[in-house]
Amino acid sequence: MTSEVSRRGMLGLGVGATLAIPAMTRAQRPLPPHREQDSVGVAVVGLGKLSEGQILPALKRTKGVHLAALVSGVPEKAKKWATEFGLPDSAIYSYQNFDTIARDPKVQIVYIVLPNAMHADFTVRSFKAGKHVLCEKPMAVTLAEGERMIAAGKAAQKHLMIAYRCLFEPVNVSAMQMMRKGVVGAPRLIKTVMGKQTSLSDPSDAWRLDMAMSGGGALADMGIYGINATRYLLGEEPTEVRAWARTDRNDPRFKTVEDMVAWQMKFPSGAIGEGSSCFSQPGTMAWQAIGTERRLVADPGCFYNGNAVRIVGGKDDDQPRVAEIDHFGNEMNWFADVVRGRAPNVAPGEEGLQDMRIIHAILQSVRDGGATVKTGFGYKRAYDPATVVGIRTAI
Ligand code: NDP
Repeated sequence: MTSEVSRRGMLGLGVGATLAIPAMTRAQRPLPPHREQDSVGVAVVGLGKLSEGQILPALKRTKGVHLAALVSGVPEKAKKWATEFGLPDSAIYSYQNFDTIARDPKVQIVYIVLPNAMHADFTVRSFKAGKHVLCEKPMAVTLAEGERMIAAGKAAQKHLMIAYRCLFEPVNVSAMQMMRKGVVGAPRLIKTVMGKQTSLSDPSDAWRLDMAMSGGGALADMGIYGINATRYLLGEEPTEVRAWARTDRNDPRFKTVEDMVAWQMKFPSGAIGEGSSCFSQPGTMAWQAIGTERRLVADPGCFYNGNAVRIVGGKDDDQPRVAEIDHFGNEMNWFADVVRGRAPNVAPGEEGLQDMRIIHAILQSVRDGGATVKTGFGYKRAYDPATVVGIRTAI
């Protein structure tokens, strides 16, 4: 993508742009400021790259949520963060004594930021402790685990949200709104490219390269963004998929997981989704939506920051104006509003399970040499993020 596109998106500037977006939704109206006593306490479980790099910094900035506890296998690391947030030692838990968090009324939400294979157990333990759960993507490794997590939430009558941050990211929300408005014309093709380089010497990559821990290598880790984006851009669910993989089994990184997977998804409207995920390429999180009249191009489209979307084929002064915000903070605030009963859960466990089912279908097709695998699982979103989330400009 050209630097001009990135620059525009990053600055949130179009040239004199006024692209009308759908009428203001409930969530776009200014909410009353979160009062201090309203702020919801969050326990962050697993202090790895995502927690230390994005989530904890975001928790310093958000008004609707605050850090109430830390759960880690490394006491010194937890102590360092507790000190930074002014939390007492009693707010630090290990994986072994985690269940005693049930007696901590300051924690209402448990945010699970562990390797994928640990999501299900910690979700179930959190529900048993009477907490709401925000769980990182992919929600689990097996479909049975995903179903167990949903059932545990229902039994505990607590909320489960899967941390699909792009549903709370202004560039992606504005793109969904443009798609619903028909800015591209009739959608024809959604293309998504997600990947990065990996190294076995990076502990954060090592578990991602282990099928038992990750549930699918680049596909489960990054391809999931493309699958989710294709679904939310089109606002419909695929009926079938087919996929192929290219993996060098002599590369020590790819003993158990696939490296590059490329897939096609067919949708009821006739639109096609084409995606790829790869763990041996430069960092990429890009998508484009091609319609009968125009294209939306986002490169980067799903990074932590710097995302940008450009309309190609329209007038140059038609570009969307989207300001950047910390979408991790926006996502946590949204879930706090779900817990308070003020917002719908746009990414419940069922949403996470739908992506997992599609991932499993893609891997099935790979095993079957690109055979068509049906994906009519009967899932229907309860809420369209395009209409309920809206674009917020502050967290
Ligand atoms: P890291 O490997 O960097 O961190 C995971 C942390 O989990 C570790 O630092 C450790 O924390 C804890 N942990 C406990 N047991 C283990 C174990 N057996 N092996 C490794 N770690 C263990 O991973 P990330 O932070 O990158 O990813 C965590 C989750 O977040 C994953 O589910 C991933 O898919 C998701 N993710 C989501 C992103 C998003 O944008 N939404 C982006 C990146 C990741 P401690 O030392 O405190 O015990």
